[in-house]
Amino acid sequence: MKDPNELRRKKTEARDLDLHTAFAGLNDDMLNRLEVCSTKMTCEAGRMLFRRGMRDVDMYVVLSGQLEIDDVDEPGVEHVIAILRRGQFTGELDLLDNRPALVTCRAKIKTKVLRVDRSALRRLMRSDAEIAEVIMQACIGRRFDLIRHSSGGVLLVGLEHSADTIRLQRFLIRNGFPFQIVNAENNADADSLIRSFELNPAELPVVVLPDRTILRNPTNPQLADELELTDVRDFDKIYDVAIVGAGPAGLAAAVYSASEGLSTAIIEGASPGGQAGTSSRIENYLGFPTGVSGQELSDRSQIQAQKFGARFLISREVSSISEEVGQHSLVLSDGETVRARAIIIATGAKYQRLSVPDYDRYEYQGIHYAATAMEAGLCQQDEVVVVGAGNSAGQAALFLSRTADRVHLLVRAKGLNATMSDYLIQRILASRSITLHFETEITALSGDDRLREVTWLSKGSAEPETRHISNVFVMIGARPRSEWLSEVILRDSKGFIVTGLDAGSRSAFGTSLQGVFAVGDVRSGSVKRVASAVGEGSGVISEVHQYFANAVDLNLHAAILAA
Ligand SMILES: Cc1cc2nc3c(=O)[nH]c(=O)nc-3n(C[C@H](O)[C@H](O)[C@H](O)COP(=O)(O)OP(=O)(O)OC[C@H]3O[C@@H](n4cnc5c(N)ncnc54)[C@H](O)[C@@H]3O)c2cc1C
Repeated sequence: MKDPNELRRKKTEARDLDLHTAFAGLNDDMLNRLEVCSTKMTCEAGRMLFRRGMRDVDMYVVLSGQLEIDDVDEPGVEHVIAILRRGQFTGELDLLDNRPALVTCRAKIKTKVLRVDRSALRRLMRSDAEIAEVIMQACIGRRFDLIRHSSGGVLLVGLEHSADTIRLQRFLIRNGFPFQIVNAENNADADSLIRSFELNPAELPVVVLPDRTILRNPTNPQLADELELTDVRDFDKIYDVAIVGAGPAGLAAAVYSASEGLSTAIIEGASPGGQAGTSSRIENYLGFPTGVSGQELSDRSQIQAQKFGARFLISREVSSISEEVGQHSLVLSDGETVRARAIIIATGAKYQRLSVPDYDRYEYQGIHYAATAMEAGLCQQDEVVVVGAGNSAGQAALFLSRTADRVHLLVRAKGLNATMSDYLIQRILASRSITLHFETEITALSGDDRLREVTWLSKGSAEPETRHISNVFVMIGARPRSEWLSEVILRDSKGFIVTGLDAGSRSAFGTSLQGVFAVGDVRSGSVKRVASAVGEGSGVISEVHQYFANAVDLNLHAAILAA
């Protein structure tokens, strides 16, 4: 048994270390280098440099004096979360994109600062690796700190178990956006909020933005737009590369493409991270001996891509692709079009659903396809069901067994050996809170506004078993997300995209349409793992360069012939 004081000490040390990185300062040498590309300003005590909710805010670096960083508690009470002194600077991830500031900054006393405008900052991030590292580390540390302490973001007010509250909560988590949730059920805080914002309880859930704008049960694309998660605005631009899907394959392609100087847009139909983003712990990804959550891997990759200048469109599904001379067009669900010289399809796969009566009624209202900390929070000390026999089902069962009262793992086959990794099987067998049910299938679901009871039948049992269970995790494999390609691109009998020689392409990831590549789980014959998706996404960029070089040669050749 671990000593709780020791654990507490280690936690405090870890937080101090995080804060040390988050509020690290620039040394005198770095400040001298920064002076060349910035403007000196003197601010009198109390002067506001930027307010929560403002966009396109520049970075301020303290030369002398103190800047105060404030967050706002509802209903509108400010509190200080940091004091910046010489060498320390303002800003977090909003410096890299156009999202609104999550905090307010003012001079605490008479303060001299360097003001670095955003275009100068971008140039600096590319040209001065030493300063860039300090700023990047601080940006990541500060955002993670805001998320961990639920400060600085938006307020989500809704009924804890309603499908829309869960949808919005999941969307904010998956996009790494800090938020506080207020459960509207029997909650005095929620009552006073509803009164002070004059909300109608029938309109819940609502999202209150930093500038106090209220969004009533917004769709994910509406919320994405309001939070400025999408940073592609210029739809006339022709990108070098457009990537469809921001799972591990698409994010890796974005990092390599943007870092090699190609103008890059990445379009994601839901939230970055893909399937991997729904995994509580990935243990077989190289370099993470203690595992890494899919969410963290995705957050870090997105920041890395943005650092190199990749542009994101979030919550925009691509509905079709067409080819024009020397370029391709992707039509989005909202009718906008993104154009690029090369397209990388990294749309991965989507979970299969169970065929059980009333399934639709309880989907996202008790039926889940991900087992992360958020879902675990919904079923603490309860009995839960996990359906499936693959690694994702095994990981989910183990993860949930830490907090649930009992996990029933329902497997259609006679055993797990053919479908699950041995290390997971051994841990499941050793767990006292997981009950394995082989040759078993769910036959009925029932409840009211949410799932309340689950019935299953095991082969050889005369009677089905019904239990009071409100959360079912369905992890039974996936099918490729290539339906939007219709007949334009060659796919195999299961819908996976064919690449390489079989598709008539000389590139390993080339599809049957010139200049269009496919990587990751959506590609026929790919290994369905995070590492292979990342490998394919990174490797495809050299094929894109080759394609551009050939296109230049062909154009030159055509020009010579024409002359
Ligand atoms: C719960 C779970 C746990 C897992 N655990 C592990 C593990 O421990 N180790 C491991 O190696 N693998 C694991 N895997 C498998 C791994 O996550 C996948 O192999 C990997 O995510 C595939 O990456 P991808 O980028 O090819 O596709 P995906 O991760 O599927 O990402 C595709 C992205 O494309 C987007 N998209 C789809 N269609 C469109 C469209 N038309 N327009 C715009 N965007 C679109 C999707 O929203 C999605 O974000 C796990 C999978 C699951 C579900």
